[in-house]
Amino acid sequence: MFKTAIKLSDKILLIFFIFSSVLILMARFFIGGSLQQILILCNFVYIFAFIIAYIISKKFSDDLVKLSFKVEEMAAGNFSKKIVIKNSRDEIGQLVNALNELISRLQTGVALDVSKHKELSQAKTDFVALASHQLRTPLSVIKWYIDFLVGGDAGPINKEQSKYLKQVYDSNETLIELVNALLDVSRIDLGTFSIEPEPTDMIAKAEAALTKFESVIKAKKLTLIKQFEKLPPINLDPRLTKIVFENIISNATKYTLEGGVIKFEIKKIENDVFIKISDTGCGIPREQQPRVFTKMFRADNVKRIEAGGTGLGLYIVKAVIEKSGGKIWFESPSLELLLDKGQKNADVPIDKRNRGTTFFFTIPLKGMKFKLGTKKLTSLD
Ligand code: ADP
Repeated sequence: MFKTAIKLSDKILLIFFIFSSVLILMARFFIGGSLQQILILCNFVYIFAFIIAYIISKKFSDDLVKLSFKVEEMAAGNFSKKIVIKNSRDEIGQLVNALNELISRLQTGVALDVSKHKELSQAKTDFVALASHQLRTPLSVIKWYIDFLVGGDAGPINKEQSKYLKQVYDSNETLIELVNALLDVSRIDLGTFSIEPEPTDMIAKAEAALTKFESVIKAKKLTLIKQFEKLPPINLDPRLTKIVFENIISNATKYTLEGGVIKFEIKKIENDVFIKISDTGCGIPREQQPRVFTKMFRADNVKRIEAGGTGLGLYIVKAVIEKSGGKIWFESPSLELLLDKGQKNADVPIDKRNRGTTFFFTIPLKGMKFKLGTKKLTSLD
């Protein structure tokens, strides 16, 4: 059975009604008077009682409604404002004072928590910056000595020794890549990296980035489709442009299986340069897509295909593009290449083909935004 809640204002009205009726009956008994006089008295008493009751109950109701809203806000984690109630000397006033006291305490607690969290995250970023900076020199020394040994400068080495040294060299390269990426992430998080745009031939930068992956494209028999529109020199930071192109092309080649297609398009659209890099690779699982641009993200499906990877590349790329005034997004499956009839596996039903991924990004035609900073990004050097 439901119990109907009676509003406080209704209760006050009812009390005033009963009280007025009793008053009129007593007047009839003790003072007397004609029926007409009693009716006139009734009218006056009821009207007066209702006005008083209405004013008192409205004040109570308004204060209580304010209080309940505030408690709901607090439950949702908002402790920013205190409650203000006029002439609050009654019980409701006491409740409001107690609640305001609680809000003050919570405000101080939350402020302490936020500053503690900021301090911790700053200390973490500082540590990563320092550790990765310190690690760079010994790793470069290891690289240099392996080159020295493999080149036979310290005496002849046999085939087996050369094979082992190659493995040491590759592992050292992976470590250098990770340390550089960590250093870049800390420079992004600390806001110390600079953007120094200068007139640059974007198409030449795209071609140079592709050259770096020529051997893997050939080894995996990937079909490369290029559609580059002629562009005037654009104000770009050449180093950052290289980092962005190489990261996205590197992913496309890494995560596309043998015989796949990579399409690279650059064109002008209104006030932007629009860049699109599509592949017919393994795609990104839908449920993991919201995490693509977060630090250390590697989707489950790629871990099976390619063990190497830091999960930091796209975080760096997104920061660079957005700080330069551009935008970046992606689509997976890659609709254009999936529907392309010229594709080698066009006879395979769409849901059975590789899913593919397309990364899109824009850079303003007027160039990247200048950003003052004490450090340059280092990735893929
Ligand atoms: P990683 O070093 O692992 O490549 P990135 O930050 O460059 O790190 O990419 C993050 C993750 O996003 C990858 O591990 C992969 O799961 C997914 N990803 C990025 N590009 C592609 C792509 N072209 N095809 C499929 N998955 C991709």
